[in-house]
Amino acid sequence: MIPGPIEFEPSVLRAMGSATTSHVAPNFIESFGKSLEMMKSIWQCPSGQPFILAGSGTLAMDTAAANLVEPGDKALVISTGYFGDRFAEILKRYGADVTMLKSATGGVIDPDAIESELRRTKYKVLTFTHVDTSTAVLVDPVPIGLLGKKYGVLTILDGVCSVAGEEIRQEEWGIDVVLTASQKAVGVPPGLALLVVSPEAIDKWKSRTTLVGSYYSDWSNWLPIMNAYANRKPSYFGTPAVNLVAALEVSLQLILREGLDVRFERHKRTGDAFRAGIAALGLDQVPVNNQVAANTLSAPMYPDGISGPEFLSSVSSQGVILAGGLLPEIKDKYFRIGHMGSVNKGDIITTLSAIESGLKHCGYPVVTGASINAALNILNI
Ligand code: PMP
Repeated sequence: MIPGPIEFEPSVLRAMGSATTSHVAPNFIESFGKSLEMMKSIWQCPSGQPFILAGSGTLAMDTAAANLVEPGDKALVISTGYFGDRFAEILKRYGADVTMLKSATGGVIDPDAIESELRRTKYKVLTFTHVDTSTAVLVDPVPIGLLGKKYGVLTILDGVCSVAGEEIRQEEWGIDVVLTASQKAVGVPPGLALLVVSPEAIDKWKSRTTLVGSYYSDWSNWLPIMNAYANRKPSYFGTPAVNLVAALEVSLQLILREGLDVRFERHKRTGDAFRAGIAALGLDQVPVNNQVAANTLSAPMYPDGISGPEFLSSVSSQGVILAGGLLPEIKDKYFRIGHMGSVNKGDIITTLSAIESGLKHCGYPVVTGASINAALNILNI
């Protein structure tokens, strides 16, 4: 129950374990081509350009920055935690002149504050983290997409902890790049960086006057490959992660079979259930309120006097693995529960039960079953 890598479906793991074929074998070309098509459906961006690259989520961020930023370009980073800060570092590497709007811990930046900054300075790109995995804070992409269009700024959404879990309508919302990694709500073991890029962003990239600063990430190398697979033709630039792509095809099919709206609603209900369960135990949470709380993970604060390592090891002795804190400012004061992908009612009850026992073990008074009752009140509606 950590916020990635998550637990994977058996059919996805079977695809991972199947015989590795050539990257130009007909079955693989078909698998890659179908995965590209399904990404456009899941990102809800029919006119977007999907990319599937071997690498982690950080590579997806790096690729967006490398291709869309030229030295001296102005970039506005909206940071709601650790991964927003990381985006600033990546953009700087490619020579961007970065301004950061950093939220208070657990909060978001008001769209009015973003608009004043966009009015003051002409930016080329704006990045934001849909769900920052260090704070479990959810940012509403809708006003940011509108502002991007109004001020002619390319918007880049880090969806590593949101794509296929939180609602995303890339094209309707006018977001230029939505990027993620395979190991979270997309439901595939770590190793794929996934991006969908708008036609406007591709045009901006084409009008660059300097070479892309990363050879591996350069879309000049990858665009012909993505086009070839989309047209079911063999091609080669760098060997793709063949088994991961086979697994991706299976997982994307499962996601579409469930139905996007059903899947978003299920994640929302799971998030609500965890938040209610944690609140019933009297624990605070890092997001300042439910409106800015993610549905893909929760971030409860330890009650006063509870030792994080003792609590986490007690929970793990009951077979439930949770994650510790990540945001440096409050690292030892909170823990994280991932609830993406195929998490079901049984997982929720088992996890809350282990959390109750862990708290009791550490001397915190708990009314047995309080969190489970609160969660069931939501799950059983
Ligand atoms: N952004 C967010 C929101 C993340 O949660 C993560 C990973 N936890 C990353 C970026 C970086 O992804 P990776 O670890 O796959 O490089």
